[in-house]
Amino acid sequence: MRDDTRRWILADQAHCWHPFTRQGEWCAPDHDPLVLTHGKGVWLWDSEGRRYLDGNSSIWTNIHGHAHPLISAAVRAQLEKTAHISFLGFTHPLAAELAEKLCGFFPKHTLERVFFSDDGSTAVECALKMAVQYRQQSGEPQRGAFVAFADGYHGDTLGAASLGGVGRFFERFKHGYPVTHVRSLDELRHLDVKEIAGVVIEPLIQGVNEMRPWQAGMLAELRSWCDQTGVHLILDEVMTGFGRTGKMFACQHENVIPDFLCLAKGITGGTLPMAATLTTGAIYKAFLGAPENAFYYGHSYTANPLGCAAALASLEVFEEEKTLENLSAKIGQLRIGLAALMAAHPIIHEIRQCGFIAGIELRQPDGGKFPPASRVGEKVCQAARAHGLLTRPILDTIVLMPPLCIDSGELDCAIHALGAAISSIPGIHAAAPFKVPSPRLHIRH
Ligand SMILES: *Cc1c(COP(=O)(O)O)cnc(C)c1O
Repeated sequence: MRDDTRRWILADQAHCWHPFTRQGEWCAPDHDPLVLTHGKGVWLWDSEGRRYLDGNSSIWTNIHGHAHPLISAAVRAQLEKTAHISFLGFTHPLAAELAEKLCGFFPKHTLERVFFSDDGSTAVECALKMAVQYRQQSGEPQRGAFVAFADGYHGDTLGAASLGGVGRFFERFKHGYPVTHVRSLDELRHLDVKEIAGVVIEPLIQGVNEMRPWQAGMLAELRSWCDQTGVHLILDEVMTGFGRTGKMFACQHENVIPDFLCLAKGITGGTLPMAATLTTGAIYKAFLGAPENAFYYGHSYTANPLGCAAALASLEVFEEEKTLENLSAKIGQLRIGLAALMAAHPIIHEIRQCGFIAGIELRQPDGGKFPPASRVGEKVCQAARAHGLLTRPILDTIVLMPPLCIDSGELDCAIHALGAAISSIPGIHAAAPFKVPSPRLHIRH
């Protein structure tokens, strides 16, 4: 190990506290954290000079690859002008242009207002506050509660966390909004809606819930239930937005327009923290008039110009590189590649794919789950590193969702690395020999 690497690891283990991390294990003497120093395209390099494919897009954020020249240049150009301008009391060109562009993805007179913030959690937080305040100012103050779906994930700030249905994250923090959790549209239809302001959902697929897609048509049905009951539809597209599902936004698959749309992760192409909450003109109108009707909410870095520059550049790259047009072939290649992987490995129990998002669930060959203590998902991801692939499991479901810019050779690399990783786990053997990648595709270290 290089001296620098050792120094960084010691400083980290002495002073950093990582998200969603068992710090005891992180700091254990036998744990060997990767220090990632730079990236280019789908590749990341560690401080020892080894190269890895970014198989989960740096926690679901990266779209066009690392260090994309167009995005970097746009951020650099803005940095030369100024890094930050207060959006409280002022505006700036890039925020105005970005808001216009985002609304432009939807038909006129639908989503036409954008509130900027910094993260997925704050995008959701903001939608919830708007939804509650809207009711207070429209003669329905009793509608202050929300419905969310079991096992959903909407972020970690208190309001967003109150929607969360993933027990291990949220059990201790049930202090936010009153929330009813439902499992299905059927359960939803039985609710008394007179106190419900909105229903929140991750459209098409629940991410943190081990990548579980909804049935086709479900979102459109939810929209019509909302229309009948007057409950607002809040779509959390923090993971699905910006091309992940094959269209720019997941709601476009079912021609649904929500009352609130929450965007974050991919909005800057995965370069800077930035988020947006979009809403309709009808909702916005309730915040006009009396001074106390204003929306008293915001953050210091709201609409940060560097973030806006990156977001605008990312949208430009979508056009320039025909990202969405080129994606459907890659989605097909991923489907075929994963089906071959599944045929070779009896421990692959199910592949759940939605666009360019895949969850690969591992189980014992008899279909039973592995004992949680065996941490098979983690072991496979750890082994994948040796084959040049970085990704993370959710329990025993391996996530594979590389940047959308990945090319066909690189995608083969990722799938083969995963196969090699599964084969290398003791006690888990491939049913048939898995085709080794051609030398051209070998991942260099
Ligand atoms: C990641 C995520 C969030 C939270 O976003 P942060 O930027 O981590 O705060 C919310 N909703 C969904 C669906 C997510 O995937």
